[in-house]
Amino acid sequence: MLSVTPIPAFSDNYIWLLRQDTTPDVCVVDPGDAAPVIELLERESLSLSTVMITHHHPDHTGGLAELIKRYSPRVIGPDNEAIGGIDTPVTEGDEIRVMGRLFEVIAVPGHTLDHIAFFTPGIPPLLFGGDALFSAGCGRLFEGSPEQMHGSLQKLAALPDDTLIFAAHEYTEANLRFALAADPHNPDVVQAMQECQRARELERPTLPTSMAREKRINPFLRVADAGVRQAGSVHGSVDSDEATFTTLRAWKDNF
Ligand SMILES: [Zn+2]
Repeated sequence: MLSVTPIPAFSDNYIWLLRQDTTPDVCVVDPGDAAPVIELLERESLSLSTVMITHHHPDHTGGLAELIKRYSPRVIGPDNEAIGGIDTPVTEGDEIRVMGRLFEVIAVPGHTLDHIAFFTPGIPPLLFGGDALFSAGCGRLFEGSPEQMHGSLQKLAALPDDTLIFAAHEYTEANLRFALAADPHNPDVVQAMQECQRARELERPTLPTSMAREKRINPFLRVADAGVRQAGSVHGSVDSDEATFTTLRAWKDNF
């Protein structure tokens, strides 16, 4: 049985740990910092066999060198030489077996150009999406265009509704604050904010979220919604889904 747990890092990153109860070999996704990973592996007598990387930003890759030195794991990630240590570069459509599950690589450019996501069908399906799709939000556009990011999110939205989404940051509360403005007549957003604040008071992660939930509360997946368009129209063009996405992303950058 595969389980996924967060290792908190920095102020709001999650390094996701994948483990099976039958083996001490585990996988981590986006180890920006080696220290909390090593601490957990030592404490629970686990061994790091695989690392998955979604994109080149240091808060996702900073722990790689030390983890490689210590555990020599297989390192799967974008085909980007700037990320030192990747021995299994992957691109759109590639399939790789990790922790007994077959993962499909989905290219999701926008936040960065090298950004990929890892999806595995199953019960439930799992998505490790890095900084592409957050709960109630999406990544900032550091390298890609709004068109690219919109296309990437549309690809992810086509995944099954019961897909569990493991995003790399605890950004949900700030994202929901924006969602309340961008989707002001949506009762699901109000309820999500209440649930989020309760979880944060208890210092619990608001992740994973699910695709079904994101389709109800994430304004960046709801650009076709009349209420979102209406709210967005004050800030820019809402002439098409892509235009509405562009408007929302720019609005959120200055929110
Ligand atoms: Zn990033």
